[in-house]
Parts: sequence; C-alpha cells; structure tokens
Amino acid sequence: MAAAITAVRRGAEVTILEGGERLGRKILSTGNGKCNLGNRNLSVQDYYTSYPKRMESWLNAISTTDVIDFFRELGLLIKEKNGYLYPLSEQASSVLDVLRFGVKELGVEIVTECKIRYIRKENGGIRIESADRSYLFDKVILACGGKAAPKTGSDGSGFKLAKQIGHSIAPTVPALVQLQCEEEYFKAVAGVRTEAMITIRSGGANLCERGELQLTQQGISGIPVFQLSRNVNYLLREKERVEAVIDLLPDLSREEWERIMMSRSILLRGRTLEEYFTGILNKKLMLLFIKLAGLKATDAADNTSREALSRVFSYCKEWRVHIIGSNSYESAQVTAGGVRLEEISDTFESGKMQGVYLIGEMLDVDGRCGGYNLHWAWCSGIIAGRAVTDTER
Ligand SMILES: Cc1cc2nc3c(=O)[nH]c(=O)nc-3n(C[C@H](O)[C@H](O)[C@H](O)COP(=O)(O)OP(=O)(O)OC[C@H]3O[C@@H](n4cnc5c(N)ncnc54)[C@H](O)[C@@H]3O)c2cc1C
Repeated sequence: MAAAITAVRRGAEVTILEGGERLGRKILSTGNGKCNLGNRNLSVQDYYTSYPKRMESWLNAISTTDVIDFFRELGLLIKEKNGYLYPLSEQASSVLDVLRFGVKELGVEIVTECKIRYIRKENGGIRIESADRSYLFDKVILACGGKAAPKTGSDGSGFKLAKQIGHSIAPTVPALVQLQCEEEYFKAVAGVRTEAMITIRSGGANLCERGELQLTQQGISGIPVFQLSRNVNYLLREKERVEAVIDLLPDLSREEWERIMMSRSILLRGRTLEEYFTGILNKKLMLLFIKLAGLKATDAADNTSREALSRVFSYCKEWRVHIIGSNSYESAQVTAGGVRLEEISDTFESGKMQGVYLIGEMLDVDGRCGGYNLHWAWCSGIIAGRAVTDTER
C-alpha cells in the first residue's frame, strides 16, 4: 500500500492484487493491536542484514521523519513513547484505515482474493497469474511478506514467486518468537514475568538481552527473548546445543547477596526456607530454585548450610536452561532470511527480471522488536514506489 500510494501519486496507474479477503490484515495484529509503526531511534544496528552499508543508505533515504510525514499526509495522528511510534488512537486499525482510504481516494484498483501463483516475462511486460485470473503489467512490485503469521496471508508463496524468476532465498527461520526449553518444570512457573538479563551461550556465541522475561508452559518469552530468537533459531538450525543463562537479579552482585544472606540469617531465625527466601523473586520461581538446589521449602533455614543457601542464589543469578526450539511461524512476528539482497538493486529491482521489484519482509532483512519491521516495509515500499515511476523503459 505504501508502494502503491507513492507510485500513484507520481502518475502511475496501480493495481493491488491481494490474496486475502482484505488488504493489510497483519497490520491489525501489530504492536498488540496498537501498531508500533516506527521508531525515532533508527539505525542499521536495529536490523539483521548481509548488507549493512546498503541498509544504511535505504534508512537514510526514508527516515523515521519521512515515515511520519507519509502517514501525516494520509491523515494519521502519531504519538511517540520513548521513541516508539504509535497512532494517537492506539488502534492499529487507524493505520490500516488511513492506508485503505489513501489507496481508494487515489484511485488504486484493488483486487482481493487473488492469490498470485505465476510470474513471467511476456512481450516486454510481466505476466502475473492467479488460479483464475491473468494480468499483464509494465512493472510489478512483489510485497508478499515472509512466512510469519500465515493466517494473515503471508504463507511463503512470495518466496515461490521469487524463485520462479530466478532468485535464491537465504535460509529462513521464525524470528521475534517464543523459545522452547528442554526442562519439564516450566509448567510450575508459567505466567511469571520478571526483569532479567538473558545470555545465550552456544559454540562461540555469547548474546545478551535485558528486559521483562515471561515464562510459559514450554519455555521463555518476552521482548528480550524475542530479540534473541532469530539468532537462537539459526544456531539450532546448525544443530548447535543452545543454553540460556538467565540472571534474575541483574542489579545484585554476589557480594551484595552475601551481605543480604548474613543479615537475613540473623533477622529470620527459626524460619523455613520458603520464608527465608520470601520477597527476593516471584514465589513460584523461589520454590522451584529451592527444589532444584536439592532442598525443601519446609526445611529450617537455620539448619541449612551456607553452601546450600548459596546454591539457591546461584539459580537466581545463573539459571541455566536448554533451548530446543521455538514456536512455529504461526506465532512468530517476523521471518528471518529471505530473498538475497545481492540479487536486488538499490531501488529494490530484481537483478533476475527487469521491471520486477521485491520489498518488505520477503527480503533477507529482519528488524528488532520496536517498529523496525514496519519501518522496513514502509521504507522499501516508498523507495520502490518511486523507482517504478522514475525509470522509463
Ligand atoms: C503479531 C505480530 C505483531 C507485529 N508487531 C509489529 C510491530 O508492532 N511493529 C513492527 O514494526 N512490526 C511488527 N510486526 C511485523 C510486521 O507486521 C511485518 O514485518 C510487516 O507487516 C511486513 O510487511 P510486508 O508488507 O512485507 O508483508 P505482510 O504485512 O505480511 O503483507 C503481505 C501481504 O501479501 C499478501 N500475499 C502474500 N502472498 C501473496 C500472493 N501469492 N498473492 C497475493 N497476495 C499475497 C498477504 O495476504 C499480505 O496481505 C508484527 C507481526 C506480527 C505477526
């Protein structure tokens, strides 16, 4: 839609062919229904890409201010929270609505329930075919998304189209997704949310994220886990053993803990271990760690050795869990991997078929959580929308 609006404003006649019943369904589920549509703090470091230099020039070409202007022109009021951009209404549907109103008002033809299956060169144009329809266009922009959240229409069929015209696809994995752990005890702590520093250790990798950790029936989730998930999935793809080391007390040093333990031993004479450890972490976690340390919640703290108490603390500081997988594309926010950037031009034109452009999540670029993936969709869309009207052939 960003590409279509840009191209039509510059004089092109544009048709959008959408496989689903309506345009932009995925936008409605973004940002927990609020749509985090961009970020003031935008840099190439917010993206995984094989081409950082090029990425930088794309982000310079369409900055956050450009995205804000693009949406303001469509009538969207935007607010910022710590740099994160949202519609003022805090409703993702407002973002979709202004895009829908925009394409309609500008006279873009929209054909829904038109899943494109074939693409080929024909008589100097590009032939596009669904099961029952066929079109010949001068230029085509493929904006089919990746494989994440296939219910919203992005089922990976864009990769098949890209392959038809000769592109290769960098291996894809689900990204911004929950991770699953080997340990069976997660059911006991599911639902807990707590601040944590999470370090992924695997082979030579040592990746770190801090933020609110969420524990699920199968493993770990929350923003810091989402941020790590694509790298973890690539490591798992290489059959690496992946361990997450979780520090649930990232602001407390071992020395400080020693001091706390000492003072609590004096203060809390006669208490059970459950009582002794009350108020340090979420109770469910503390009970789990007491058990993992080989102790009982009902044991008297006084009769527990210092070394055993330290063992419990070690779990708080260095809880090690083994990651065996992630949730599937169904619940992933983004696809990592995709059409290789080496095979497209600076204006997103295919290096394999002139007149075809590829944009958004189809490409081998994935952003961190924080509005970066939508920024990429708008940014690549606007640049390609300009390019199709720039180049006369
Ligand atoms: C739950 C969730 C929350 C998210 N939250 C955020 C967020 O807050 N901020 C952020 O920046 N990013 C977020 N994202 C990621 C972001 O939504 C995507 O990266 C972005 O929508 C990708 O845009 P796109 O246009 O490339 O692809 P998509 O938005 O996936 O659109 C692709 C479109 O192409 C259509 N299509 C696919 N194949 C065909 C075909 N063969 N023929 C015809 N039509 C086809 C699909 O039906 C779909 O409408 C979230 C994603 C999810 C799933």
